[in-house]
Amino acid sequence: MKRLVQALGVTLLVVASADLAAAQSSPYPVTDVEKLYQDLLGKINAISLFDNHAHPGFADDADVDAMAAPPEESSVLRLRDDNPEFVTAAKSLFGYPYDDFQPEHAKWLADRKNAAKKAGGSAYFDQILDKLNVETCLANRAFMAPYLDPKRFHWVFFGDSFFYPFDNRAETASTPDMGVYIPLQEKMLARYKKQLNVAALPEDLSGYEDFVRNTMADNQRRGGVAMKFEAAYFRSLYFSDPPREKAAAIYAKYRSGGVPATEEYRTFQDYIFRAMVDQAGKLKLPLHFHTAVGIGDYFSLKQGRVLNLENVLRDPRYHSTIFVLVHGGWPYEKEAALLTAVKNVYLDTSFQSELLYPSQFKEVLKQLLTLFPDKMMYGSDAFPFNEALGAEESFWLAAHTTRTALARALAELVGERAITRDKAIELAQLYLRDNARKLYGSSTGGAK
Ligand SMILES: [Zn+2]
Repeated sequence: MKRLVQALGVTLLVVASADLAAAQSSPYPVTDVEKLYQDLLGKINAISLFDNHAHPGFADDADVDAMAAPPEESSVLRLRDDNPEFVTAAKSLFGYPYDDFQPEHAKWLADRKNAAKKAGGSAYFDQILDKLNVETCLANRAFMAPYLDPKRFHWVFFGDSFFYPFDNRAETASTPDMGVYIPLQEKMLARYKKQLNVAALPEDLSGYEDFVRNTMADNQRRGGVAMKFEAAYFRSLYFSDPPREKAAAIYAKYRSGGVPATEEYRTFQDYIFRAMVDQAGKLKLPLHFHTAVGIGDYFSLKQGRVLNLENVLRDPRYHSTIFVLVHGGWPYEKEAALLTAVKNVYLDTSFQSELLYPSQFKEVLKQLLTLFPDKMMYGSDAFPFNEALGAEESFWLAAHTTRTALARALAELVGERAITRDKAIELAQLYLRDNARKLYGSSTGGAK
């Protein structure tokens, strides 16, 4: 080949040079990026969103999550309720007549939401999605609520409570945060036991595994489209591969009482986790993982780091289990992105879309779009902050941030001649909607 090119020599180079320039990337923009931005933003606004991760619900609904806020929580600047963007959100969604959230003003917003709650029915949250051009939203909740339309909102249930069947006194006492989290996991496990008519813990490990597998299958029958782990809040995301006998012995020892040593509890959890991963593959039920920094003074960045999952994600035994790295690993978003090279691994950009301003999030997206654009999904992590500032404003903030950051990232890539305008629109569709549609398929009304 090299010799042939040399033989053809100069003539070939001259003929090709005009085409080459059009397809040659440049470190500087060669066209007007701001104009490209406006053009692409118009196209992006017209693409409906598939939200891979949110906690929709009213502020007093305890089921919006399986855990609650820790006693000490430092809120980042953008998510404090004096962020003026929330005023813009409330104006845009509800015609909010004030310019701040002074208590007497915020009451206007809270009254509106309380009225919607009182009125009942599922039209209210459907309208919020419609206003933001969101077609489908995965609702990561303890249980679903009757006021969420099952055609638009699909349940992502929680798997962490299966880690805590024994006496949890030592775990609960380990940090003030765990003092809040673990009793809620016990409550969740009790609800699952009731759901499956399991009065006491099964006799042996086999029985417990059956209970776990059956609960997963039952939740899927009840509309569950994925199972989520918030494990990063409670323990390391590194899961070892203990032999079954070891886990069976620990189960037998603590089934009817006694506080397991930290190491014993960890070994049992690592084993039961793998049983869940295996069952998820059989059920074709994607697994979601919280992979980002978390709230609270005791969240361990090191233990929660996404790279801890690598041994599981790359384990050939689990090639038929779909893994979704929720929040895209931030602040280790590059590690998360590189892990999506694995065929069955995906990520979403929820939470980043609320935490980061568009100019910052643009950089993340630009990187992701040029790695594995067929593995990245939109997400909001919308959550009701308080009675006035609800999941509604949070949905707005994520959608706004994502659309503007994406338009800018793509405009720069087109401007640098890395990709064409047509390719940019195709990538936007994949990220905002089509990758998720394809992943969840008919379980969310999309095409498989
Ligand atoms: Zn979340």
